[in-house]
Amino acid sequence: MKKSEELRKKLSYERKLFWDVASSKEQEAAFKFSEGYKTFLDFCKTEREVTFFIENVVKEHGFKEILKNGSDRKIYKTAHGKNIIMAVIGKKPVSEGVNIIASHIDSPRVDLKQNPLYEDKETKLGMMKTHYYGGIKKYQWLSTPLALHGTIIKANGETVNVVIGEDENEPVFVIPDLLPHLARKEQYSKKLGEAIPGEKMHLVFSSIPYFNDEEKSVKDGVKLNVLLMLNEKYGITEADFLSAEIELVPAGKARDVGLDKSMIMAYGQDDRICAYTSVMATLDTMNLDFDKTIIVYLADKEEIGSEGNTGSKSIFLYDFVGDLLKHNGEDFDSYTLRKTIMKSQILSSDVNAAINPNFPSVHEAQNAVHMGFGVSITKFTGSGGKSSSNDANAEFMAKISRVLNEAGVNWQIGTLGKVDEGGGGTIAKYLAERGAEVIDCGTGLLGMHSLYELCSKADLYSTYQAYKAFITKA
Ligand code: MN
Ligand code: MN
Repeated sequence: MKKSEELRKKLSYERKLFWDVASSKEQEAAFKFSEGYKTFLDFCKTEREVTFFIENVVKEHGFKEILKNGSDRKIYKTAHGKNIIMAVIGKKPVSEGVNIIASHIDSPRVDLKQNPLYEDKETKLGMMKTHYYGGIKKYQWLSTPLALHGTIIKANGETVNVVIGEDENEPVFVIPDLLPHLARKEQYSKKLGEAIPGEKMHLVFSSIPYFNDEEKSVKDGVKLNVLLMLNEKYGITEADFLSAEIELVPAGKARDVGLDKSMIMAYGQDDRICAYTSVMATLDTMNLDFDKTIIVYLADKEEIGSEGNTGSKSIFLYDFVGDLLKHNGEDFDSYTLRKTIMKSQILSSDVNAAINPNFPSVHEAQNAVHMGFGVSITKFTGSGGKSSSNDANAEFMAKISRVLNEAGVNWQIGTLGKVDEGGGGTIAKYLAERGAEVIDCGTGLLGMHSLYELCSKADLYSTYQAYKAFITKA
């Protein structure tokens, strides 16, 4: 080797493509791991469905509800059916600080309005009014098959869970787009972000009116027929919509992408990819002897600012740590709880934007996430001059990179876009408010927030490996 090459090898930094450096056994493991992930995505398209699914998985693995029995080392708690926290107690006292992996399980979508149903006067179509949730590009949601996932609480308090459109034999729903022939004034003359107003995103729901042989044509018969069908199938009336939570999501299953099947395309990978990998990393390490208690937190409402009592600004996580101190037979006064959080380490686990070869200009390649080059560590998010970002401390960032390097995890540095290009945030800044060390650590995606986001199986697997290293070594 030439002297200059030797020096370069010793002194310079270069990210590495997983497929170049992983052994064939590791590559095989990455492919195998992705199968379970796809199944998870197929069953879990709403925050409630993720919570329900993960609660069942952890129960199967012997996790017990917290504070039920002091001797349980593997515990969990859910809140409002929309978020779940699980923990495995380590060898050291909880009050010496815990390790937390926090992600979110809500995704951008289109919800039904609270009073959604009407019959269009001109066309006699049964329609549903909608209100989008989170940062969507509205045009993507038009003329594409949508499935309906919802929770309805009937007047008598009974809960009805509804899923229509995921089974191939079930119908789907659609928000019809305008034909190009007549789109000149209505759409083409406008800016992309303004061409589809939210109030023009009504859903086609039905078209046959109520009919009986005596009455024949009935006024508002299409709407009446919808109500009749819903009443016969679910026992609900129109008033039950007023309190219901009904979400429209892309219908269909996760699919492999590419001739080599090296990638996955699916709805809701932001941020269920980090939720799934953190839960799997915990289940696969739960019987090992590690020092610090690990907590995995799956939060709701990140896409609308982490608000509400199921978002990460809520007290749920801190209340759980209090319960954990009590469960473990330690002091659980507010001073101890505060100090426990101060000594804790948190991975804010959310996705990042990998360089899209069609739009490379929005990224600064040297600091951007590259697909296939491993899990991404992001020191700061935000926009403009790092506004609204957590900006992790150098000491903590160095510690996490050391942990990942020692475990042989393929990782890369990742920044969201060029300076001044745009920006965005994660739950990192809310988690950091109480004094814990926090850094962003997640997977790069292409087409984030689109109906079908794209990930690399290499990065999925590297993310899982990173979380395992954090649990056992950090
Ligand atoms: Mn996210
Ligand atoms: Mn998002």
